[in-house]
Amino acid sequence: MTIYFDNAATTKPRKEVIDKMLPFITENYGNPSSIYKIARENKTAVDEARDNLAKAINAKANEIYFTAGGSESDNWALKGVADSCSDKGRHIITTAIEHHAILHTCEFLESKGFEVTYLPVDEYGIISIDDLKNAIRDDTILISVMFANNEIGSVQPIKEIGSIAREKGIVFHTDAVQALGHVPIDVEEMNIDLLSASGHKLYGPKGIGMLYIRKGIKIKPLIHGGAQERNRRAGTENVPGIVGFGEAVKLASAELEQESKRLAALRDKLIDGILSSIPHSRLNGHPQKRLPGNVNISFEFIEGESMLLLLDMKGICASSGSACTSGSLDPSHVLLAIGLPHEKAHGSLRLTLGHFNTEEEVDVILKELPPIVSRLREMSPLYEDFIKNNK
Ligand SMILES: *Cc1c(COP(=O)(O)O)cnc(C)c1O
Repeated sequence: MTIYFDNAATTKPRKEVIDKMLPFITENYGNPSSIYKIARENKTAVDEARDNLAKAINAKANEIYFTAGGSESDNWALKGVADSCSDKGRHIITTAIEHHAILHTCEFLESKGFEVTYLPVDEYGIISIDDLKNAIRDDTILISVMFANNEIGSVQPIKEIGSIAREKGIVFHTDAVQALGHVPIDVEEMNIDLLSASGHKLYGPKGIGMLYIRKGIKIKPLIHGGAQERNRRAGTENVPGIVGFGEAVKLASAELEQESKRLAALRDKLIDGILSSIPHSRLNGHPQKRLPGNVNISFEFIEGESMLLLLDMKGICASSGSACTSGSLDPSHVLLAIGLPHEKAHGSLRLTLGHFNTEEEVDVILKELPPIVSRLREMSPLYEDFIKNNK
């Protein structure tokens, strides 16, 4: 038995998505740029997927550009605007809690002479609008603030940020990889100029993403080559991926309201159940302004990694707030940014719920987790010290 509670890392593709993709891997393998029937059918399918994506965010189809994923879209947004606006200014504003696809791209741009302001966040992981206003300078060319955070689920005040950017004439990009298909997005109402999304975070395939580029926004291409994507993103289209992404977004949009309510109820049951049964635990992120499927909790005195191993033995897939698995001992930059001390950041657990999760699975976690935490605390010298000092 596997219980998959790591939907922020990736999601299982839906059956409808796979069914829609299959013919484009088998019979309909034509290059969409060719003129015969098996190629023309591909072009129609790509157009249909583009329409689905445009509708999902209230954009026009010719403002959607397919890429190879969220990371490419983030790179393109930042490097493309930096490249086309450097004569106007070299200052970029982002946040301390972005995904590495943004943070590492910003570091790269700093090495090329751009200046980056990393806005802090409050204890709930939300930026302050005043901080943003104060950070804006005459030479600010771009504001990039993620829609929703992948670790603690915090949802930013995107509409307010968009209206400030618009008022100041600054391009506004948002990394909406965790948001698309999970919370409502409207690029018109929110004044979003550029938006990144990815197929595999909403039950679509991996290796396909998109960048929404508002008509009139100046941005240089990232990938040079053929004339695909209206001369802005070269490379033969990933037709099966595009078709799968389009289907995934169509299903997610149709079910968004109902599904986000269902997930938020499961999420809150999980949060309340854990906090009430396990002492010395705290919720990370905002209690309400958070993604419907995100649970992130710190447990004092223990390591997140050891929790993951014991959960894995029960068939439960989750994620932690330390990056030991990626070869670094540093705790998550997001948990440090909300003010957690290192030891609490190390003892955190992320459980992210999605389409395939059920209430029965939530009950299994609520049963399995308390004894795991107790067992680890019994072996923890930190816990032993705590008990001694509190006798
Ligand atoms: C997953 C993720 C990305 C990267 O997307 P890929 O398609 O895996 O490259 C970027 N930003 C956020 C917030 C993410 O969660």
